[in-house]
Amino acid sequence: MPIDATQPYDDSNIFARILRGELPSKTVYDDEFALAFHDINPQAPLHILVIPKGAYVSWDDFSARASDAEIAGFVRAVGQVARDAGLVEPGYRLLANTGLDSHQEVPHLHVHIFAGRKLGPMLAR
Ligand code: AMP
Repeated sequence: MPIDATQPYDDSNIFARILRGELPSKTVYDDEFALAFHDINPQAPLHILVIPKGAYVSWDDFSARASDAEIAGFVRAVGQVARDAGLVEPGYRLLANTGLDSHQEVPHLHVHIFAGRKLGPMLAR
């Protein structure tokens, strides 16, 4: 079910539970601002999710309310995760679904990193 990104943060969501250590994840990166782990249902040979440590519903919420330090830390973490995975030379795709029409399912901001094959042209289908 897609979520309404205008709703308040619900700290029972799956990624909040991963951040609290209540659910396991295949973690690849962890710092003050971000956690990155493998997607449980990969859509590409490499599919990693990067989430901020703070409680933000979506890209909209994060870009409006997060501090400059949180935004800088999170954006740098996304880049570092891709770099650590050796993805700069072959290339990768970032995606942040936001709200109903995008079919965002988990109401905690996450950036998808897709890589590991030729991903083709960007299609909004
Ligand atoms: P979105 O549709 O952009 O909200 O993406 C949510 C993503 O979270 C999907 O790609 C799911 O496969 C992934 N996902 C859901 N639960 C877990 C989990 N426990 N661990 C890792 N990835 C998950």
